[in-house]
Amino acid sequence: MRIAVLRETAPGETRVALTPETAKKFIALGAQVAVESGAGTAASITDAAYAEAGAEVGPAQKVVQGADILLAVQPPEPAALAGASPGALVAAVFDPFGRRDRVDAYAAAGFEALAMEFMPRITRAQSMDVLSSQSNLSGYKAVIAAADLYGRAFPMMMTAAGTVQAARVFVMGVGVAGLQAIATARRLGAQVSATDVRSATKEQIQSLGAKPVFVEKVAGIEGEGAGGYATEMSPEYQKAQAELVSGHIAKQDIVITTALIPGRAAPRLITGAQIATMKPGSVIFDLAVAQGDGTGGNVEGSRADQVVEKHGVKIMGYANTPATLPADASALYARNLYNFLSAFWDKEQGKPVLDAEIGDAVRLTRGGQVVSERLKS
Ligand code: NAD
Repeated sequence: MRIAVLRETAPGETRVALTPETAKKFIALGAQVAVESGAGTAASITDAAYAEAGAEVGPAQKVVQGADILLAVQPPEPAALAGASPGALVAAVFDPFGRRDRVDAYAAAGFEALAMEFMPRITRAQSMDVLSSQSNLSGYKAVIAAADLYGRAFPMMMTAAGTVQAARVFVMGVGVAGLQAIATARRLGAQVSATDVRSATKEQIQSLGAKPVFVEKVAGIEGEGAGGYATEMSPEYQKAQAELVSGHIAKQDIVITTALIPGRAAPRLITGAQIATMKPGSVIFDLAVAQGDGTGGNVEGSRADQVVEKHGVKIMGYANTPATLPADASALYARNLYNFLSAFWDKEQGKPVLDAEIGDAVRLTRGGQVVSERLKS
């Protein structure tokens, strides 16, 4: 079983899908591991560190030759995998809705594409869940980046020259990223409030010492759909939420938005008119900027990797937030992949044999066909 890892080629991608730690573990399972020279450089992992872990390090063409499994963060175009075993497994974040063309190309090339973002949100798959591991880091980084851009301090400070007020931070969308954003802002000493469409998050917000801000007594209030994900809300709910948010964000210094709905453009949570009510010097970090519809992500007018200033309010967001923390993001991502493949490792066959619950959820292509139910509907 030959496991190959190529240098990521997508612009701005700094992560790598294998670390020396996971290379060692795969080798201990009996696999042969090959890494393209320079694959870990952007994540501060040297070729020597991979070699020391027992991996073969070399040029892409040699690495891919005879590979049975390819690990990647963002998958290469299938043409880059010429020479890999027929039907090789490719585990990566495929962006199947955004890059359907690439899924079709993987099917045509005969590879078995495994979309890590389709990992079911079930207890036994928690350690394999790349969305959680990467969102956790993103939630942390959103607060740090917003704090850096903010022209004031986060904690309350009582000094001889007078008191500095604590920053007010509002987190919109309390999934994995939102929870970490709340925790990080609290650690920095801010006064934190948060909202979500899923009422189950109320208690989680409170348990982190933040204040829940929720729409009450409106039709279509429960926004929880399959797998714990949010669904699109009723027009009544959206109107009530907009009113509630308008009143609240006018008093905030920092707003972090994290709301996503799988397979859809990110919901618009903050309009230009609402931004105009905020104080000059306030900062909005839009974690959903890359999942937007072209006019912004959760925030109207946000632009990936740019600071947009409107009415004195700074709006920012990264196209790829985990890539701004490449060493930790790679370490966690690589462990997710190892936990996934090793859980299904069949010792006799010397390869992973996926079960139906997880295999059918993540598998996009097999035997020349697109097989994912989520892509068929
Ligand atoms: P996500 O990234 O899909 O979305 C972020 C948050 O935005 C969610 O909490 C969502 O409810 C919220 N949101 C969506 N539309 C909104 C709107 N209009 N206004 C306000 N908020 C809005 O979320 P996620 O971090 O992937 O978490 C999704 C679910 O999966 C949660 O229930 C989480 O607890 C669960 N989860 C389970 C596991 C597991 O058991 N293995 C692991 C991770 C997450």
